[in-house]
Amino acid sequence: MTTEELRESLLSAPKNGYQSLTPGQREEMESYCRRYTAFLDACKTEREATAWAVDVAQKHGFRPLVPGMKLQPGDKVYHNNRDKAILLAVIGSESLNEGANICAAHVDSPRMDLKPNPLYEDSEIAYFKTHYYGGIKKYQWTAVPLALHGVVCRKDGTRVNITIGEDENDPILMVSDLLIHLAADQMKKTLAEGIVGEQLNVILGSEPMEGEGADLVKLNIMRLLNEKYGIVEADFHSAELTVVPAGKCREVGLDRSLLAAYGHDDRVCAYAEIEPLLDMGTPKHTAVCILADKEEIGSVGISGMESAAFDTFMQDLCDATGASLNRCLEKSFCLSADVSNAFDPNFAEVSDRRNNSQLNYGVAICKYTGARGKSGASDASAEAMSHVRSTLDGAGVLWQVATLGKVDQGGGGTVAAYMANRNIVTVDAGVPVLSMHAPMEIVSKLDCYMTMLACKAIYLA
Ligand code: MN
Ligand code: MN
Repeated sequence: MTTEELRESLLSAPKNGYQSLTPGQREEMESYCRRYTAFLDACKTEREATAWAVDVAQKHGFRPLVPGMKLQPGDKVYHNNRDKAILLAVIGSESLNEGANICAAHVDSPRMDLKPNPLYEDSEIAYFKTHYYGGIKKYQWTAVPLALHGVVCRKDGTRVNITIGEDENDPILMVSDLLIHLAADQMKKTLAEGIVGEQLNVILGSEPMEGEGADLVKLNIMRLLNEKYGIVEADFHSAELTVVPAGKCREVGLDRSLLAAYGHDDRVCAYAEIEPLLDMGTPKHTAVCILADKEEIGSVGISGMESAAFDTFMQDLCDATGASLNRCLEKSFCLSADVSNAFDPNFAEVSDRRNNSQLNYGVAICKYTGARGKSGASDASAEAMSHVRSTLDGAGVLWQVATLGKVDQGGGGTVAAYMANRNIVTVDAGVPVLSMHAPMEIVSKLDCYMTMLACKAIYLA
C-alpha cells in the first residue's frame, strides 16, 4: 500500500459535517430546526416543557400509563411526573425482558428562582429577591432583558400560571449593573465576585401608590399582581416563580448556521429525543423517552433522575407486558442526551483540541464526563461505545467524540451516572454548545439535526 492508502485506511479524519450534507438533508435540517425553535420559544421551564410534551403526546395517540393496564407492541404511553417531568414509551415487538432503548435528557435550565419571601422595596424601587438555580456566571445576568415564568399555588389549592415579559407588549424585568464610571472597585474584583448572588435582585417597578406610609411602590406592585392573578404576598410561599432571559431563539451568523437561545442545555436534546418518538411505528425494543427535571442541581428531588418515578414507570411497563423489571433494566441501553462544550477558539487553552467536540461535526459522543480523575462520571464501557458507533454509522448519523475540557480544568456531570447505577448500559451524547449556561447559548443547526437522527437510531437499534 502507498502512504496515502495507508493513511486513508488506518487513520481517522474527522470532517466538517457540511462537507457531506446532501441537499435533501439540508432541507430537512432547516425544517427540523424551525420546529425545534418553536418548541424553545414555547418552553422555558421544565413545567412548560412537560405541559407541551403532554399535549403533543396526546395528539400523537399516547395515553397515560395506568397501573394494571395491559400493553401490546405499538402501544404508546406516557407518565406525567407531577407536571415537572415526563416519561414516554412506545412498546416494542420484543419483550421488555430483552431491554428498552432509552433516551434521557433534561428540561430544566440555569436561571434565577424567586426566594420564598421575594417582594421588597428599597429606595422607592420594588424588587424580587432571587436564588440562582444551577451554575451561572452571575455577572452575565445583569443588564439583560428578563421574563418571569412559573406557577403560584394558593392556599385553597387553586393554581395560577404566570408569564410576564415574553409578549412584545409585556414589560420586561431586569437586574441592574453598576455604571462603568463608578466601577473602579468592582472592576478590580474577580468575575466571581463582581456580582454576587444577593445582588441578583430583579427590578419590578418604581411608581408609588397614592397616600402615606411605607413601601408604597411595593404595595402598588402587589396590587397589580393581585388584579391580574388574584394572588396576595403570602402566596409567594407556595410558588415556583423563576426569572429567565426574555425573548426568542434567533439565527446567528450571516450564513444563519447557528442558533442562539436561552436553555439549549438541554432542551436541544429533549426535543431531539421526543420528536422521533411521536410518529414511530412499532420498534423492535421498547423505546423510552425521558424529559427530566433538576439535572442542573444534581438530578435530585422527586422530579430528578435519582427519583424512583423512573423505576415506577419501568415497573408499570413491565407489569403491563408481563416482563421482569430487573431483566429489563440489565438488558436496556440509555443514551444520556445532554450537551457538551463546543471548542471555542477564544478560550482554546481550556480544551484538549484532539478530544473536544466542535461545531458542525455532528452529535458529540462522550465516553465519560466527571471532573478531576473522572469523578462523578459513569464512564461507558468499550462495548457500549462500540454499540453507539456501529448504530450511528449504520444510520448515516454524523458524530464526533467529546470530552469536557482539559483533564485538570474542571468538568461536569449528566444523568448518565444515575442511569448506569440502575444497571443500564449508558453512554453520554449530545449537541456541542458555545457559551453554555449563559443567558443566550449557541448551537449549530447541523449538530441539532444530527442529534435528533442519533436519538432515532438508538430507539430503533
Ligand atoms: Mn445539561
Ligand atoms: Mn447544564
